Amino acid sequence: YEAKLQKCGYHLFSAGILDTFKRKLELENELRRAIDRQELHIHYQPQICASSCRIEGIEALLRWTHPTLGKVSPGEFIPIAEETGIIMDIGKWVLKEVCAQLSLWQAAKLDVPTIAVNLSARQFMANDLVASVQDIVNGTPCDPRQIVIEITESSSMGDIESVLPVLYQFKSLGFQIAIDDFGKGYSALGYMKKFPIDILKIDKSFIQEITSDAKSAVITKAIIDMAHGMKLKVIAEGVETPEQLETLRTMNCDVIQGYIIDPPLPSDKLESRYLTGECLS
Ligand code: C2E
Ligand code: MG
Ligand code: MG
Ligand code: MG
Repeated sequence: YEAKLQKCGYHLFSAGILDTFKRKLELENELRRAIDRQELHIHYQPQICASSCRIEGIEALLRWTHPTLGKVSPGEFIPIAEETGIIMDIGKWVLKEVCAQLSLWQAAKLDVPTIAVNLSARQFMANDLVASVQDIVNGTPCDPRQIVIEITESSSMGDIESVLPVLYQFKSLGFQIAIDDFGKGYSALGYMKKFPIDILKIDKSFIQEITSDAKSAVITKAIIDMAHGMKLKVIAEGVETPEQLETLRTMNCDVIQGYIIDPPLPSDKLESRYLTGECLS
């Protein structure tokens, strides 16, 4: 790469930028083959009712383990997948995998809560998104009502005119909609009343400061009250400490997700801990 870049006059780049660039290129190339090479898998994180401690939902989170690069975090590879469009194939793979897992759990007569799947803004730009999601789900015994579609506040608000009809189509098919990372973006609250949302997930940057920063606490409480006023379910993500959990309980937050309960788990662990009737720790 260096020779090529220097030819292009990029020799002024610092070594750090060059390394970052090389890493991105490498990840991009490897990511293209990751599905076929079966390097992707999904972890499942429980979402727990704040008052009863029962499992309310599960979030599916993508994992990539490369044979030589090791574990690559979604925070690093999802943006690359989005920029390059690889997210289209990956997104379909994730949904297929989740439906397959859900079908297995149902066939085993387990009481499975809803499963949330993250969709990227880029996926919403494809005009066949709803059709392809419907195709995948219809090809399995799964019911759309068991699936929650998570979109981030920033991606959903970016292009409201095109996203809104897509969300309504998903709703009419029975899917639930969750707004992810709420509070992190710069969106106008006015959009909130237009969106057909079921669940609001408060960004972990607020949760992580609710016991140390009075403003974060006030904002979190206000988001919860506003969401309840709109009949939405509120999930706090990134809950790590007993103090945060207790504070969220006093604020009437509905659902808790975070390391204090469990990190994202392989499917068999999620199953034995949460679906086969064993007690929660
Ligand atoms: P997200 O959807 O907001 O997912 C929550 C992230 O918070 C996950 O990071 C999860 O592991 C992490 N988390 C959970 N509990 C805690 C906690 O108590 N403390 C802290 N510090 N973190 C916690 P992860 O798995 O690294 O995923 C990062 C992001 O990558 C996700 O954020 C989501 O935006 C994206 N992503 C993951 N899987 C997929 C996918 O299948 N498709 C798409 N499009 N994006 C995905
Ligand atoms: Mg999410
Ligand atoms: Mg989030
Ligand atoms: Mg996110």
